Parts: sequence; C-alpha cells; structure tokens
Amino acid sequence: MLSINLKIISSLIFLFLGVYFFYNEYNLLLKIKFNNIDLIKKQEIISKDNIIKNTKNNNKNEIKNKIKNIETKNNLTKFKIKVNKGDTFASILQKLNLEDQTIFSIANKVENFYDLKKLKIGQNILFFKNSFNEIKKIELKKNIDSKIIVLINNNEIIAKKEKLKKSFFQESKEFNIRESLYQDGIKNNVPQEILISLIKLYSFDLDFQRDIRANTYVAIFYDMYQIVETGDIEYNDINYARISIGGKNIEYFKFKTDEGFIDYFNKEGKNVKKSILKTPIDGARLSSNYGMRKHPISGYNKMHKGIDFAAPKGTPIYAGGNGTIEYVGKNGGYGNYIRIRHNNDYKTAYAHMSSFKKGISKGVRVNQGDVIGYVGSTGNSTGPHLHYEIIFQNKQINPNKLQLPSGKILKGKELERFKKEFKEIYADHLNLLYE
Ligand SMILES: [Zn+2]
Repeated sequence: MLSINLKIISSLIFLFLGVYFFYNEYNLLLKIKFNNIDLIKKQEIISKDNIIKNTKNNNKNEIKNKIKNIETKNNLTKFKIKVNKGDTFASILQKLNLEDQTIFSIANKVENFYDLKKLKIGQNILFFKNSFNEIKKIELKKNIDSKIIVLINNNEIIAKKEKLKKSFFQESKEFNIRESLYQDGIKNNVPQEILISLIKLYSFDLDFQRDIRANTYVAIFYDMYQIVETGDIEYNDINYARISIGGKNIEYFKFKTDEGFIDYFNKEGKNVKKSILKTPIDGARLSSNYGMRKHPISGYNKMHKGIDFAAPKGTPIYAGGNGTIEYVGKNGGYGNYIRIRHNNDYKTAYAHMSSFKKGISKGVRVNQGDVIGYVGSTGNSTGPHLHYEIIFQNKQINPNKLQLPSGKILKGKELERFKKEFKEIYADHLNLLYE
C-alpha cells in the first residue's frame, strides 16, 4: 500500500518536473524566436533605406571601391546651386525631385560631418547627375581645406569627409607706407588676413591711427597654403615682421618657446607682449608712492597720481615702453615734462627733468629703455627726483596695480636657440625677397 502511494507521488513529481522544464524551454524558444523576428525586422528597415548604419564597421576600402564604382559607372554632369536667403539643405534637394525619404537620409548622413544649420547664403553646393537626371553625387564645402561628399546609388547613401590637398608657400614683402598700413599693404598684395595679424602683433607698440606716417617702412614674411582643387589660399603665421618709423626698428620673429607656445620676440629675446617699465630709472630710491598725501609745498592733502624716485640730478631717465613722444617741454608745476604715447590705451609721463635728451621732440619714436632725459628739480619740486605717471585711457593709474601682460624674456639656452633660429628666418626672408 505504502509502495503504491510512493510510486504515485514520485510519478506525480516527475510529471510536474517534466511539465515545468518543458514550459521553461518553450518560453526560451519563444524568446529566441521573437528576438530573431526583431532582428529580421531591423535588417529589413536597414535594407529598406539601404543605409550602412555604421560606416566604422565597414571596411574603408570597401567604401572606397563603392565610391569608385559609382563614380565610374555613371557618366556624371556637374552643376552647382547657390544657397539663397531662406534656403535650407532640404529645400534645395526637394527642388531636385529627390524623395523625402532620400533627402532625410542624405541630411542625416551629412550631419555626421557638417552642421547643416551653418549653411551660408552664397555658398555653392555641387551636384552630379547621370543621363537620367538622377542625382548621384553631392559635394559640400566644409571649410577651406575639407569637403563633404555624398554618393547616392540605388538607395544606398554614403557620406564622407575629404581633406583637400594643399601646397605650402612662403611670401616676403617690403613696402613703404604712403596712406595707411592697411591700404598700402593691400596695394602691395599682402593678404588682408596677414595685415590684420600684423596690426594685432604691433598693438603693444603702436597706435596705428596716429603713429604710422608716410615713409614708414614695413617688412613682412609669412606662410600660406594653397588648396589645389579650389585655388583658395589659407594663411598661416607671420614668421618675421619689421616696422621702421623715423629710423626706429620694431621687429619680431616667430619662435616656439620651450613650453611649446608660438610667440613673437625681438632680437634681444623680449616678448612682443611687453609691460611698461615700473621703474624707468636706474639706482633710484622710491621717495613717494601713488595715493593720498600731504603735498610737500602746498601742505594740502592731495592725491599723488604718480610715483617719485629720488636720484641725483642728471641721472638718465628711460622710456617706459615703445611709443611716440606726445609732449616735450615746460608744463606748469611738472616743470620739464615728457609724455609718451605707447598705444591706443597707454601713456607714460615724466616730470621735473633737468633737461631732455638731444633729439627728443614731439612725434619722435622711442623704444623701451631709450634715454629721453635727465633727473632734475624743475617745476613744483623740493629736490631732484623723477615724478613718473602711467596713464591708462587718459587717467593716471597706480603703477603698482598695472596689469599688462608681462612678456617672457628669453634666457640661456632658449635664447641661444632663438638667436640661431631668427637668423635663419631673416635669411629666408631676404632670399624670398630677392629671389
Ligand atoms: Zn610726484
């Protein structure tokens, strides 16, 4: 009796297990089936558009061959369409009787390389059609040295970016200014882009509206690339520049510093981004700082808008930066006074001088460190000293708070390397000029 019961129970258990495993397996099978159906569906969608979903997974050579096939199989004629106001990439393609689905796919592919919202008015798009008037190829300029190519073949669409071949050039020019740096530069076939870089380069030294005058001499040596296919020119760096005004040379050489930065330095290895000297005198003692103080003569509390350096009479005073003499002569309480204009923003002033250096007159150009005059006690002064002002946008500022980019000064091995390189640059400049 017991054995019969056991038999029934065990066979029930087996039956139950059997049903359980069968059901599980069946479910798994179903899942796999559904997945397969999903896959097939996906594949169908892909083949419908015939989009190669992931070009990365495709052999590059395969794509190349496909492009070649499309290009050679079809005898294509080229035409271009200029982007007009209100046009979009899609609206242009619509006019060419392409199907919406195709347009959508093309736009999608192009967007991988190029933001179609950046399409410019006046930009040309190249189209290539076969003898049945079917668009087979589209070319779109991405930037000066690359283009996007779209190939359409039996609903298969391939888009790719192509770098354009370019050839390297160097050019050197020297010319006199008769009107302005910009106009005479253009007349001498110096490209506008280079002239703009040149003006930027000299913004620490010159006030271009006022300093440049007739017979200012300009030398410039720069790199450029010509795009073979389009003839477009891509301008690169200035290698060397010199501006000579009234016998003063301001020249800069391109140099890659040890830190890897491209920058410009003069022959002494001083960076183009020079600061204005905070102490334009040697061996002087700071005797009065910028700020409120009791005036030594009037006795009133007054703002002292400069810095005083006590020094023996006759001590040379240096120009605080490259610039043009704007004022030289007697100037009330300042006594013998010089003011230098450095650029559009900065000026420096020097007061109580005993005398001016010979040759210093209004309009003369000076470089940083040139002697302009000598310490004295002229005007409202209690003893020999230099009163020095730094003027920013026509207001005296505290020289200690001066925030000008302080340019790097090359030293040691870096300076040696620079000196070797600038000689080569200069030799190249002359070679190109007299070639
Ligand atoms: Zn003072």
